[in-house]
Amino acid sequence: MLLQFQKEERIGLVEKYLLLILAIFRNFAKLKLIEQANYPMKNYKRHLVTAALPYANGPVHIGHLAGVYVPADIYTRYLRQNGKDVLFICGSDEHGVPITLKARQENISPQDVVDKFHGINKESFANFGISFDIYHRTSAPIHHETASDFFRKLYDQGDFIEQSNHQYFDEEAKQFLADRYITGTCPHCSNEKAYGDQCEACGTSLNANDLINPKSTLSGNPPVLKETTHWFLPLDKYEPWLRKWILEEHGEWRANVYGQCKSWLDLGLQPRAVSRDLDWGVPVTVENAD
Ligand SMILES: [Zn+2]
Repeated sequence: MLLQFQKEERIGLVEKYLLLILAIFRNFAKLKLIEQANYPMKNYKRHLVTAALPYANGPVHIGHLAGVYVPADIYTRYLRQNGKDVLFICGSDEHGVPITLKARQENISPQDVVDKFHGINKESFANFGISFDIYHRTSAPIHHETASDFFRKLYDQGDFIEQSNHQYFDEEAKQFLADRYITGTCPHCSNEKAYGDQCEACGTSLNANDLINPKSTLSGNPPVLKETTHWFLPLDKYEPWLRKWILEEHGEWRANVYGQCKSWLDLGLQPRAVSRDLDWGVPVTVENAD
């Protein structure tokens, strides 16, 4: 559902939805209980509140608002009313494969896609009364500079590991193929239109290498395997202090968040790729990086 309300309707609708959402989730009651029970709120000097950045390949809907932005907005307003120094920051996530796919489907540029949905979502949030202090975009120069600085600093310190592997490449389109750009026959159910990451007929998660007769969705040709190099952050190296910090010092996190982190830690953390073969993102500012 696209949230575009007339200005005069704004207050009434906001109140109704707030009451509805509060009734359903009872977040206030939970917060109060947590506060009174085990985890008294610390008295910080300044507060920075943020919420998951909505992906700019589609409009926000009521589920996003109920699950993420209204609870964060309630908390921010609570802090402001108590005279706290608080900033509520969010913005559009404008990079990545789904945006390039959407652009290809609609025969427009990735820039057109993000311009369109950043505009729609920013206006929807404003009309709904979500009180961000800043609603920015990850494609803004400041974001590219900051992300590049982080990367460069870690690279110069030797904190990354470099690994090469073979990935599917489309020789006609001259690009590496993200899993979603490859279709083929599912090895489990023989569906001929399975994607490189999942078969939607039988629901099995796949690797592009599992597909029988793989084809590039860009040119329709069979892709070839080609060597590519990426940088990985060795999360396993930081596991001991992460384990202590999360499991011993942050028992107040929501049960599902705490549980997810615990299950990753219990399985053993793996090196995490920090680069992709994609021309719609923040360029890697290292010599010889393609
Ligand atoms: Zn299948």
